[in-house]
Amino acid sequence: MFETPVHVAQVNLPAWDEVERAFRGIFERRFFANHGPLVRELDAAFAEATGVDHAVCVTNGTVALMILAQALELSGEVIVPAFTFPATVQALRWAGLEPVFCDVDPQTHMICAATVGPLITPRTRGVMGVHLWGRACDPDGLQALCEDHGLALMFDACHAVACTHRGAPIGGLGAGEAFSFHATKVLNGGEGGCITTNDAGLAARLRTIRSFHPGETFAQVPTRMNGKMSEAQAALALISLKDLPVNVEANRRRYEQYAAILAEVPGLDLVRYDPREENSFQYVVVEVAPEAFGLNRDQLLAALAAENILCRRHFYPAVHRMAPFDRSPLRLPVTEQLCERLIQLPNGQAMDVQDVTRVGEAIQSIRASRDALLNAAR
Ligand SMILES: *Cc1c(COP(=O)(O)O)cnc(C)c1O
Repeated sequence: MFETPVHVAQVNLPAWDEVERAFRGIFERRFFANHGPLVRELDAAFAEATGVDHAVCVTNGTVALMILAQALELSGEVIVPAFTFPATVQALRWAGLEPVFCDVDPQTHMICAATVGPLITPRTRGVMGVHLWGRACDPDGLQALCEDHGLALMFDACHAVACTHRGAPIGGLGAGEAFSFHATKVLNGGEGGCITTNDAGLAARLRTIRSFHPGETFAQVPTRMNGKMSEAQAALALISLKDLPVNVEANRRRYEQYAAILAEVPGLDLVRYDPREENSFQYVVVEVAPEAFGLNRDQLLAALAAENILCRRHFYPAVHRMAPFDRSPLRLPVTEQLCERLIQLPNGQAMDVQDVTRVGEAIQSIRASRDALLNAAR
């Protein structure tokens, strides 16, 4: 179907002349690092975009998660989904915390008060929710549960740039939230991340941990590191933040074309977004029901790869089956089923609506020839 490979994560590139202008400024100032003017501008701009008092930009989303978990000054267990990017759990371990894996709701693909509640023990100190696909991770239910049990609540918001909960931007939920500005995310700083919070004390600890420099000590903390964002990253992220509405709108058009063309295909269930909320439409995720579709997810993935459409199993394997966290024989039935059934389809700036149509047609023709494909594979 495609001459050259179509990768699942298409990077949103900023306009070259804007990048050149921003980098010329960095060269002229000779100010590359250490909270230069662009990083300070991005801290302020992202706080405003998410409607919070404090945004603390750092090297990447993983470091944002590590610093957030560290700054909450917990020790003991934190309940976290296994159906997430491994960095969510790796960050907890770096902060000296013990992850306790929680199964997810089959509708939302996320943990919620109902799945977290039964796992709370006297050793539990916190909960890390993940706003998967930019849909909010039961913030109201988890907030009430955590208040009842005296637990810290934090969120991995790496999927949630430009997404809302009850109409307000995600960023001010729980004690703090960690975002990613990785090149494959909707806001592209090359690498980059940010922690948002409305808690001034937490913000002071976050800013202290982000820097090793004694002159930047705003709070007493036991551990510090170098999590500083560079001016180069901030330059890219600022352009991308300005471009966000245009990129989100283009994502939405592609998403809706996928929705239209896949609606007819039995056995495919596209992850939907609440029309009352804003979403980045960055994630086009489909659940494959093998009985109705006639092929399983991995067979579909292989058939698409033969058409040069390189999709991703998102997430695979789940973190409770991944070193160094392998918890076999712990079973998380919903998580494990989602790992077998979900596929992420390509989206992003390099694709136009016609490309989406062709990916959709490839899926339709794969389904139409499913018996021949299965026979050929035998
Ligand atoms: C991308 C991502 C991360 C890691 O962010 P980096 O900026 O790549 O370190 C963590 N959690 C989730 C859910 C992500 O999607």
